[in-house]
Amino acid sequence: MSGIYIHIPFCKQACSYCDFHFSTNLKLQDALVEAICLELTSRAAYLEQPPLSIYFGGGSPSILSSRNLSKIFDSLHQSFDLSEINEITFESNPDDHTSENLLLWKKLGVSRLSIGIQSFIDRDLQLMNRAHDAREAEQCVTKARDAGFEHLTIDLIYGIPNQSFAEWKSNIEAAIKLGTDHISAYCLTIEPKTAMAYQIRTGLFNEKSDEEIEQEFLYLHQRLEEANFMHYEISNFARPGHLAQHNQNYWSGKKYLGIGPAAHSFDGNQKRSWNVSNNALYIKGIKTNDPNFDFEVLTVRDRYNEEIITGLRRKDGFNFGTWETSAQEEILRNIEQITRTQSEVIQCSGSNVAIHPEKWLVADHLIRALMLD
Ligand code: SF4
Repeated sequence: MSGIYIHIPFCKQACSYCDFHFSTNLKLQDALVEAICLELTSRAAYLEQPPLSIYFGGGSPSILSSRNLSKIFDSLHQSFDLSEINEITFESNPDDHTSENLLLWKKLGVSRLSIGIQSFIDRDLQLMNRAHDAREAEQCVTKARDAGFEHLTIDLIYGIPNQSFAEWKSNIEAAIKLGTDHISAYCLTIEPKTAMAYQIRTGLFNEKSDEEIEQEFLYLHQRLEEANFMHYEISNFARPGHLAQHNQNYWSGKKYLGIGPAAHSFDGNQKRSWNVSNNALYIKGIKTNDPNFDFEVLTVRDRYNEEIITGLRRKDGFNFGTWETSAQEEILRNIEQITRTQSEVIQCSGSNVAIHPEKWLVADHLIRALMLD
């Protein structure tokens, strides 16, 4: 069970809330793709077994020229046995859904499109400096279906300043109407160095309150479950049989290989490494066979704590049945302490621990209370 993540660090324009690694200067696109292909070749042995999933994220993979994207797929085919792949996800923006692009992505083998819609309201899209408009948000799914894509997931954002609760509800209805088999909905977090943080500091608009955000989250949970979506992770909803495979593997601590600037890799055991978040330094390192990356070695306890953190934001929770005895004893003590004051907030079944989806958004104190010393 392993996957490949490929980070494409370019975007058409900078969304005002974004703090991912990307550049709007496309001059390095050719050199960067060349470096990605070299890295794919040089690190092919890392996975030790055929990958099951590939995920193109960013940045905006949909910005890549057909020549460059084809080069990356050629490298993937040359370097890996792709016969067991069951999911190739490709992040795209609605404004890149031209018929040429869609047909190319389909032809290259993309099986699942993840579309960054975020909102169906022009005012929201302008406030966030998105490159698309409401009309493109509404049309992109139909265009993808016309090109032959069956598996589609769309992204929404809640907690958008100036958006009313009624508008948030209308966004959810518009998303349901599109009939995709998966929806991701992320809470807008105001990261300190972003344009949006500056706009809020200078009084252009106000951040939503915690109460407003919680109201939007609870409605999202309730309405999408009513519409036959399973809320299986804090930000992810799927119709039966359509859970995101790549992310599932990632959350359950499986091995993955991260390619491209800022991409993380994990050996499935204790070593996590990440490439430098700088396009020029990444290219230079790969070309000179002296890659710029950093790494950390996790202790057994670090791994258990990661299982707690990711597990308490998933429907499945986490299972401590195979942990070392001392860690099992500690988690049982922590659980007992929590349930003494907050009965029924944690659902335990044998060695499995979970919390109800309605509590995920406010689970930070529970996670802290459960974590091992
Ligand atoms: S398209 Fe995505 S990665 Fe690019 S700036 Fe916007 S949010 Fe960030």
